[in-house]
Amino acid sequence: MPRIELTTLSGDKTSLSEAQSTQFGQRLRGRLLRPEDDDFRECRTVWNAMIDRCPGLIVRAMGTADVREAVSFARDNSLLLSIRGGGHNIAGNAVCDGGVMIDLSGMKSVQVDPARRTARVEPGVTLGELDHETQSYGLATPTGINSTTGIAGLTLGGGFGWLTRKYGLTIDNLLSAQVVTADGAVRRAAADENQDLFWGIRGGGGNLGVVTLFEYQLHAVGPQILSGLLVFPFEQAESILRQYREFGRTAPEDLTVWVILRKAPPLPFLPPEVHGKEVVVLAVCYVGTPETGSRAINQLRSFSQTVGEAVMPTPYVAFQKAFDPLLAPGARNYWKSHDFTEITDGAIRTVLDYASHLPSPQCEIFFGHVAGQMNRIPTDATAYSQRHVKYMMNVHGRWEQAASDTECMGWCRQLFQAMAPHATGSVYVNFMSEDELDRVPAAYGPNYQRLVQLKDKYDPGNLFRLNQNVKPSREREMTQTAREF
Ligand SMILES: Cc1cc2nc3c(=O)[nH]c(=O)nc-3n(C[C@H](O)[C@H](O)[C@H](O)COP(=O)(O)OP(=O)(O)OC[C@H]3O[C@@H](n4cnc5c(N)ncnc54)[C@H](O)[C@@H]3O)c2cc1C
Repeated sequence: MPRIELTTLSGDKTSLSEAQSTQFGQRLRGRLLRPEDDDFRECRTVWNAMIDRCPGLIVRAMGTADVREAVSFARDNSLLLSIRGGGHNIAGNAVCDGGVMIDLSGMKSVQVDPARRTARVEPGVTLGELDHETQSYGLATPTGINSTTGIAGLTLGGGFGWLTRKYGLTIDNLLSAQVVTADGAVRRAAADENQDLFWGIRGGGGNLGVVTLFEYQLHAVGPQILSGLLVFPFEQAESILRQYREFGRTAPEDLTVWVILRKAPPLPFLPPEVHGKEVVVLAVCYVGTPETGSRAINQLRSFSQTVGEAVMPTPYVAFQKAFDPLLAPGARNYWKSHDFTEITDGAIRTVLDYASHLPSPQCEIFFGHVAGQMNRIPTDATAYSQRHVKYMMNVHGRWEQAASDTECMGWCRQLFQAMAPHATGSVYVNFMSEDELDRVPAAYGPNYQRLVQLKDKYDPGNLFRLNQNVKPSREREMTQTAREF
């Protein structure tokens, strides 16, 4: 009988008999997929087309019981394990080569309690699906800016978007979670139960277990908000960025403005002669009363003559999807990210130098303004430690053909290096590419050691290693000994 070849946690090869695999599949409510199954390819394909990995088995989990079975099966057989939520992570850690992938995308339940203003959310839900359910009651929780991103990975790394200035990060609105840990146990993590685990999953990525249920605090938002884009000519970029910096110091927290430097896409409100030319875009979202919003947005208009604008009352759910067409899956993507407490004159000059040499029509640089509620939370309150950060920058390299890899990735890396002297040195874990494992300690900063202790407690064998990995002490000591030897 043929055997099923699989990869172990240590990277060696092992094999299972057909009978072992069949028995495992029979213990699941969902399906166990093998590479020859029709939907296997679709299931292993993630947002970033640079990632092309092939697991040995995929568990399409339908509930917590399936996740427990899969975690125990991987642990007992020492198999490499990866966890897929929405499949958006730039590093592609959702998919492993040769191991077992737990696909959570079928776990889609969202239960809103409008009286308590909470939502219980399964980990296969996307941001658009969550907004759809919560906005039915005029409610929302802060998430990200692209509706197809998975709520699970986004939450576990921190989560920021249009509501962050006012209501904090996604994790600041997480009330509790249900976590399957490496021993197969199901634990509730909340302020009143397993507090250490609750601390660790709020920013610690997927290091401590598989979350099968999230409970969020919701807020009254919209359903109409004042939002859209103001587009300025690139010649005015230096002046716009300086004014943006000044504006950001006192802007109301109901208002969030991100700056995007890119070539203009062919948007209907832009004159054709601007299409394909470098522009400065202010993406605007105001969640307070419309009259006050108009006053604040008029200030932005006074920065310079725009080449086009589309700011208007919009359904919140629609604005949450506004960037989807520019962020569709299937392109090649490489990201480099920095945190900032201040956008200095030097940072402005450097970023504009690189923005005037964009290597593809889809490459862009953005500064997301996050200053506000998230800065009021102490650094040691959650595993996410960058509470002092005011702006997050992402150098978003994006292109179509593999032949452009070297040029586009080179541009990202050079810009990243050039911006380093102006940045804090920390980074948002959810924006780290697959070649940045050396940045993990900087990403967790002062909270790194406490995460190592939690890893020792909840996952000493590092079963959950395909993430921005915090290695348990035992593995770190073994690596150190091997180096000395
Ligand atoms: C187009 C785009 C736009 C984005 N915009 C934003 C934004 O505005 N704000 C923001 O904060 N981030 C943003 N991100 C980054 C996003 O937060 C991360 O990519 C995040 O990891 C996506 O989560 P996912 O579930 O889709 O990813 P996946 O690739 O499925 O998962 C990522 C990792 O999370 C872990 N994981 C996933 N689910 C679970 C689970 N249930 N339990 C345990 N571990 C799990 C695993 O380690 C996995 O490898 C964006 C990403 C993209 C591609």
